[in-house]
Amino acid sequence: MVLAKHLKQRRPVTRELQARGLRMTAQRKVIAEVLQKAGKHLDAPEVLRRARQQLPGLHLATVYRALESLKKLGIIDELDLMHFRGTGHYYEARTDKDHMHFTCQRCGSVLEIQTPLFEKLKAQIEGRHGLSIRVARLELGGICGTCAAKKEKPERISA
Ligand SMILES: [Zn+2]
Ligand SMILES: [Zn+2]
Repeated sequence: MVLAKHLKQRRPVTRELQARGLRMTAQRKVIAEVLQKAGKHLDAPEVLRRARQQLPGLHLATVYRALESLKKLGIIDELDLMHFRGTGHYYEARTDKDHMHFTCQRCGSVLEIQTPLFEKLKAQIEGRHGLSIRVARLELGGICGTCAAKKEKPERISA
């Protein structure tokens, strides 16, 4: 099992777009690359901020449209990370082997978990029920090891 802040191996998204013969709009390409290079999960405004370094005129609506099509193509994935930081969603380039996400509901840290058991589970579900899984998304929430190790803090008392 691999437990990481952010798994390094991301699928080469731009090559994947080309392989699928998709028109490489500049926006789509830049946005895919932003997510591929990001060392963490990004929300749409952050994708916009980073993509604007190459496409200064880019708008948030265009970012959302590009994210939506990249998601439908299975090139990126969308997460809510337990909505720890509000209602926004987060995006990431997919990894070759799917991974799960654990969000600490106390400190907000996110861990990525890659395990052969997840692949096994998917294969079992596919085999048993004749399904073909294209997207697998498993988000877990709870208390991380660091937070669990901290002594129970007394509730904040306002002065
Ligand atoms: Zn924590
Ligand atoms: Zn992830």
